[in-house]
Amino acid sequence: NKQILLKSYPEGEPTAADFEIVETAVPTPGDGEILVKTIYMSLDPYMRGRMSQAKSYSASAQIGDPMMGGGVGVVEQSNNPKFGVGNYVMSYPGWQQYSLTDGTGVMKLDPGLAPISTAVGVLGMPGLTAYFGLLKIGQPKEGETVVVAAASGAVGSVVGQVARIKGARAVGIAGSADKCAFVVEELGFDACINYKDADFAEQLAAACPDGIDVYFENVGGKVFDTVMPLLNDFARIPLCGLISQYNATSLPTGTNFLPALMRDMLTKRMTLRGFIISDHYEHLADFLRDMGGWIASGQLKYREDIVEGIENAPEAFIGLLKGANFGKLLVRVSDD
Ligand code: NDP
Repeated sequence: NKQILLKSYPEGEPTAADFEIVETAVPTPGDGEILVKTIYMSLDPYMRGRMSQAKSYSASAQIGDPMMGGGVGVVEQSNNPKFGVGNYVMSYPGWQQYSLTDGTGVMKLDPGLAPISTAVGVLGMPGLTAYFGLLKIGQPKEGETVVVAAASGAVGSVVGQVARIKGARAVGIAGSADKCAFVVEELGFDACINYKDADFAEQLAAACPDGIDVYFENVGGKVFDTVMPLLNDFARIPLCGLISQYNATSLPTGTNFLPALMRDMLTKRMTLRGFIISDHYEHLADFLRDMGGWIASGQLKYREDIVEGIENAPEAFIGLLKGANFGKLLVRVSDD
């Protein structure tokens, strides 16, 4: 059983030395337990927060434990009447080839309905995050302008497409010309701007001639500073993620925009609301119905970035925190 353990809490950007690959015996399921063979491991930005002892909404990972995370796999042995050998499941195996579970929080998957990998992507946690954050907090109206950063990624790609389905204009922000071309040409956003371009602020303003009504925040930092002056009266800001800050070891120096933001929040009567999707799984059934329909009708597309082999997970995860992925990042651990 190949496992990837957390070896040390990174200072700043994680490095390969913060992980350790070990091989242990395949575990045997006890009473009520099942043995799951991982097929795809999901790599997600939140895992950086777990690799830290800073206080947060969830407990830190322990040194020497396998890295935690969701995945999809197949039941290889079962002592639990709810699961049969050969069932495909979405579970929380962590970064390892085999895992045991008593079935709590495990979802059975029908590979005839959708590719199993989507259960940790467009039809799973990132998709639900986009759906809940945009529709419940952002509440886009027809003709409004919705802007989302990390627009080619698991969450952002869904945000813009759902905004368009609801009749809004969707403007993406992404980190390369290739990603922007994909966001416009394949996903159908109205525009996408590369935040690394020198004239990013001018390009964003030109793409949002009527200002911004919903800014779905995935990244923070300089991107938010550029978005801020374009926000309209009564703008809504679902605060989903701040990936540009996840490796930071201190607060940024330079101009402090907080007083300007506070003034704008007041005078423009804006709403900024942070959310963590694990608090909102009561929307899962609505989400699966809507998203399943949009995918089936071709209105909503998704892209996966699949890295081969569990031993390549640390490098892929390090890359995720600086934009090396292009689409929902998965690791193929074994064949299905
Ligand atoms: P993505 O698939 O979008 O991958 C992350 C992307 O973030 C990268 O590809 C990169 O895209 C972008 N990025 C990385 N570093 C920076 C940077 N310094 N500045 C700007 N962009 C950067 O990941 P997800 O869709 O899974 O996650 C997107 C966001 O949503 C994250 O912030 C994540 O933490 C958050 N999230 C929050 C949840 C919640 O419950 N609140 C649940 C799930 C996700 P590019 O090349 O375009 O810069």
